[in-house]
Amino acid sequence: MSFEKLGVFKPLLDAINDLGYTEPTIIQQRAIPLVLQKKDLFATAQTGTGKTAAFALPLLQKLRKKDTSKGVRAVIVSPTRELSVQIYEDITAYSKYMDIKCEAIISGKDIVKQIAKLKGGAEVIVATPGRLLELTQNGLKLDDVEVFVLDEADRMLDMGFSKDIKAIHPLLPKRHQTLLFSATFSEKVRKLSKLILTSPAFIET
Ligand code: AMP
Repeated sequence: MSFEKLGVFKPLLDAINDLGYTEPTIIQQRAIPLVLQKKDLFATAQTGTGKTAAFALPLLQKLRKKDTSKGVRAVIVSPTRELSVQIYEDITAYSKYMDIKCEAIISGKDIVKQIAKLKGGAEVIVATPGRLLELTQNGLKLDDVEVFVLDEADRMLDMGFSKDIKAIHPLLPKRHQTLLFSATFSEKVRKLSKLILTSPAFIET
């Protein structure tokens, strides 16, 4: 199996080639075609399996046509600041041959400055649910979001982010794609998935 056969386009192929990835991992083989087909996704995957690229590569490909009339087009929520920065760094590396701007929204920094930065044209943002909600309460609009990713959903729920995720969800436009990644199939995650996913494809790895 190759990334090319999965439908990954040239600018991303060049970037992952630079990183030395030769073959897609199992989660990537299964998730990338489904995400490109606009399916909602419920995937179980552990850290270290290549799950970040499994959502980040097709997400970036979906944003390949630049639209300057739009605001934020993809949002990734993750449980911690460290993980958000890691995802941001991966996305920056994958998109090196694309014209895409990604920002990691880190708590503790001036929120007004962060919003001004986002208005400067970030298409992709990575944040913890609490910080993202705070941004929306300070004027960030999620009306143009096409892809919403929840990474390590079980951990986010264990950390008490359920309320924040449920408050963010109605702010997204009716038509959007949601990708949920979780290490486990816990009851809490299942319940959340029923609320936020529409006819999802399931991937168990
Ligand atoms: P993750 O599970 O997303 O945290 O990824 C774990 C590590 O595997 C990261 O260092 C990635 O850069 C790397 N990685 C992801 N996909 C591949 C691949 N197809 N081939 C080689 N390394 C990869």
